Order: sequence, then C-alpha cells, then structure tokens
Amino acid sequence: MSNDEGGICPNCGLPQDLCVCETIAQEEARINVTVERRKWGRLTLILEGFDKNIDLNDLATKLKAKLACGGAAKHGHIELQGDHRANIGEVLEKLGFPKEAINIDWSFQQTGRR
Ligand SMILES: [Zn+2]
Repeated sequence: MSNDEGGICPNCGLPQDLCVCETIAQEEARINVTVERRKWGRLTLILEGFDKNIDLNDLATKLKAKLACGGAAKHGHIELQGDHRANIGEVLEKLGFPKEAINIDWSFQQTGRR
C-alpha cells in the first residue's frame, strides 16, 4: 500500500512531481529557533513556525542526519537534542529555506557547563 506514485497533491491538485507547494511553503516559512533546558539539564533545540505543507518528519530526519543528533517532529514543530544554533541556519539554508526566514533566539545562555 503506497500512495507515493502518481499521487495528487491535496493542496494544489497537481501531480506530486509537479507540485511546488512544499517549495512555496519553504520560501514563506518563518522559522523560530529556540533552546530549552529539559530534564537532566539536556538542551533541546526547538524549531517552530513551519507551514503545514512542510513534511516535518522528513525535515527532522534530514536535520538529525546533518547535525548528527537525536530528535523528532512533534505536532507542528521539531525538537533536536543539543544546542545547534551555531549550525542550524546554514543547515536549513542548504535544505532550501531562505536565510531571512530563520530567526534564531540567542537569548538562552548555557550556564554551568562542565
Ligand atoms: Zn501541491
């Protein structure tokens, strides 16, 4: 059972191989990147603000591979393990997101680092 071949995009009605919804969604994305401290003091990078046309599971997989970290897509946002703010902009750009779309919150400071 696969809908991958010959599928029609539910958004624009074009065949999947002609559909540019995801490209447009990437260009119009406004991604907010923040860092949170989770239990055990683990830092988690959170990416929010994606358009619903973006396949977050697919994007999370690519980001995890490029940044060599764990993480997952969850309910409209992506969480990655660790503070990747220094690299995430470049990685997202390589995946097709415009630089202007990426808003990184640098206010979180890592303290008590061993
Ligand atoms: Zn489409």
